[in-house]
Amino acid sequence: MAETTPHVLIFPFPIQGHINSMLKLAEVLCISGISVTFVNTQRNHSRHLTFTDVQSRFGGFPRFCFEAIPDGLSDQPHSSGFSSFPDFLGLLDRVEKFMKPGFRELLTSNHRFRSDARGPVSCIIADGILGFAIDVAHELGIPSISFRTISACGALCYLCLPKLINNGEIPFKDEDMDRLIKNVPGMENFLRCRDLPSFCRAKDANDPNLNFVITETSYSTRATAHILNTFEEIEAPIISRLRSSYWPNLYTVGPLNALLSTLRRSSSTNSSSSSSVSVSSNASLYEEDRSCMTWLDKQPEKSVVYVSFGSLAMVSREQWLELWYGLVNSSYRFLWVRRPDSLTDKDNEKSQMSAELIEATKERGYMVEWAPQEEVLNHPAVGAFLTHSGWNSTLESMVAGVPMICWPHSAEQPVNSRYVSEVWKTGMDMKDNCNRSTVEKFVRDMMDGDKRQELMKSTTKVSQMAQQSSSISCNGSSYRNYEALLDFIRKSC
Ligand code: UDP
Repeated sequence: MAETTPHVLIFPFPIQGHINSMLKLAEVLCISGISVTFVNTQRNHSRHLTFTDVQSRFGGFPRFCFEAIPDGLSDQPHSSGFSSFPDFLGLLDRVEKFMKPGFRELLTSNHRFRSDARGPVSCIIADGILGFAIDVAHELGIPSISFRTISACGALCYLCLPKLINNGEIPFKDEDMDRLIKNVPGMENFLRCRDLPSFCRAKDANDPNLNFVITETSYSTRATAHILNTFEEIEAPIISRLRSSYWPNLYTVGPLNALLSTLRRSSSTNSSSSSSVSVSSNASLYEEDRSCMTWLDKQPEKSVVYVSFGSLAMVSREQWLELWYGLVNSSYRFLWVRRPDSLTDKDNEKSQMSAELIEATKERGYMVEWAPQEEVLNHPAVGAFLTHSGWNSTLESMVAGVPMICWPHSAEQPVNSRYVSEVWKTGMDMKDNCNRSTVEKFVRDMMDGDKRQELMKSTTKVSQMAQQSSSISCNGSSYRNYEALLDFIRKSC
């Protein structure tokens, strides 16, 4: 029977957020009995294997395997391989040069897959920004699925970029930031220029980063099917627009952390295992500092603002100080993830810190370099999340029922934060602002008073919808879509 079991190869872009969501899908597929090969870059492979949680998560699946290919990033100084977001786009080119041959070699070297019980790869699930993987899949006649790790609203904005340029809506002038955008269907009443993906702030329609996104997005339409880590209950109109105009075979199976919890529960019930289901489904490339969980245990319920800007965002020293003063002046407690590589300028960092700031932080703050984020968000002491609106962070916060203060940084994050504040009403959008008095006001409004009551109502509702969408007993939309995806994968083998 081994020959008829589908063998899916999952290939993420080698950064934290993309790996997290695609590794969740890998585990979900493993639980469903599918053979999975997960392609890491050599650099990340050794980092992953350092962490026992990844090994214990996948140790029970004999049909799961990591493979590593070269990425040409070993000489990059930054811990994630990228020193800033513009570099991130520039480096994509470099990554393709190194990874494409390694990827093709992995698929064509017969002995590799044919000799093991899992058989040849029957389907490739490639990151939506690795267009070359779709090319290789086509070349080898293997069905391909493009996995976009962004929101549906972000994806639709990306797909509309050529129309926005043709209609003269982008580029726009600084004074037009608050002008409404007309050419992203369904968003005409609330999407302003400032809410568009960060690349749209380019002054020239021929900007290389903007053009890269346009090209890569149009590439992804060539895949046989698409996966988005989102759910119908919050993005239904956009999802149907994506299906009707761009991606007919679109499977929305998110939030993947909720779907994974569902499947872990159901498999542990079926195997009458008594082991509890872990809240965490991330696989960090950084070492998690779990001391923050002990600190959280000592804080009152819903009293802490969790602050994290994901794995890539960088802030200037000035922004960092403004955020810090804002948090301290609000008088609320805070837990702040400060990656060692997150400051754009490090000079005189210490000389600018007042004794008062340091004292206040000792009293009611805690800082770590990397946190077990999903566990933090699910801790009873956490009352709000000051986030950069990365899509994984947004979904994790929604599932945990934690309202957000959004301070978007790049990519589609400005669109996500607009949806959080205007459509889902699960947070407030602090976009383009970070002076200490604004931060203080946002934190105070978020942590107490009428605004908080209002936000908590919709946040709780969205959290329930997120759980239900992946629930088997509720026959949730993401669970149904996942079953349809399984069907697609089984038919392709
Ligand atoms: N994350 C984490 N610990 C941290 C900060 C972030 O585990 O201290 C995880 C977070 O849970 C999320 C991912 O890193 O799954 C960040 O992805 P996101 O899409 O939010 O942002 P990106 O890093 O891609 O900008």
